[in-house]
Amino acid sequence: MFLIATGSVRGQDTTGESHVILVMTDGLRWQEVFRGADEHLLVPKRYFDGRSVTGLRERYLAATAVERRERLMPFLWKTIVPQGQMYGDRDAHSDAFVTNGFNFSYPGYNETLTGHGDPKINSNDNVPNPNVTVLEWLDKQPGFDGNVAAFGAWNVIGAIVNAGRCGFTVNAGYEPLMMMTMTPQMERLNAWKAETPQVWDGEPFDAPVFDTAMEYIKEKKPRVVFLSLGETDEWAHAGNYGEYLNAAHRVDGYLERLWTTLQAMPEYQRNTTLIFLTDHGRGSGAEDWTSHGQKIPDSKYIFMGFMGPRTQALGARADVPAVTQSEVAATLAKFLGLDWNAAEPKAGPPVAAALR
Ligand SMILES: [Zn+2]
Repeated sequence: MFLIATGSVRGQDTTGESHVILVMTDGLRWQEVFRGADEHLLVPKRYFDGRSVTGLRERYLAATAVERRERLMPFLWKTIVPQGQMYGDRDAHSDAFVTNGFNFSYPGYNETLTGHGDPKINSNDNVPNPNVTVLEWLDKQPGFDGNVAAFGAWNVIGAIVNAGRCGFTVNAGYEPLMMMTMTPQMERLNAWKAETPQVWDGEPFDAPVFDTAMEYIKEKKPRVVFLSLGETDEWAHAGNYGEYLNAAHRVDGYLERLWTTLQAMPEYQRNTTLIFLTDHGRGSGAEDWTSHGQKIPDSKYIFMGFMGPRTQALGARADVPAVTQSEVAATLAKFLGLDWNAAEPKAGPPVAAALR
């Protein structure tokens, strides 16, 4: 009886054995994810303004879309997709898109994290998000206090999750991450962010951001992690297709290191779901692939992947109803056994097919 009573009191926590890692890479097109590198764009003019692309063409080009995408993102295509589900291949009648109407970053992250577009979120200005995200709500649920963390390459990620109000650990942009007990690795990562050239205002390269998240995960073992990487968007805006591909390839390597590390940790083994998507797409043409926004309707299309114990291995989805970015927040909560739609009625429903 005592054991039963204990079990029911702790019932909320036991569902909560599950963990979710949400990874977003900014502005990566569904075209590269599903078709691989575009040979017409992979030219010297589009790689640091004239650098040789011979090596990149050998690395990324191949006869078929399947071969090319496996070269660009091998972990995604050989592990995540076969063991999980992937949406957004428009060539296979699987659409994924944003509903916010803006097709740029802050509105996309807001839609992902709250489950709804917001017409007032209409700029990328570094201002605190008035909306409560699913992350902020989760941090207030039993068993989740102190168990949520967010990491962003772009400094505005701190505003999007409302770092001043949300109550959980947030690290974004060039800011150092201070922990109660600092590790030598975290000290080094903070120094790298401070000492390396600031190519982009408010946004370091992805590498120290990813490793900061990894170091924090190893030390604190949070149940819910949001990681936003930025290079895919920055190199595309710069018209540097070669480095855009390299950035996507690096993200794939990060997903592999993340997943391999988690599966070797007892806290995360076999109870962790990975969600992988982007905040917006980009144009589909020879020139407008660099850009996105309201004037580029095609940039609403994104991709969305899920892998974990609660997701049936259905692979690359084809001929399925469209999914939207507004469905991610409720799906994320459902993986943890919680109902975001009850807390935020404006949120889209979970992606039912992604939940066993
Ligand atoms: Zn973006």
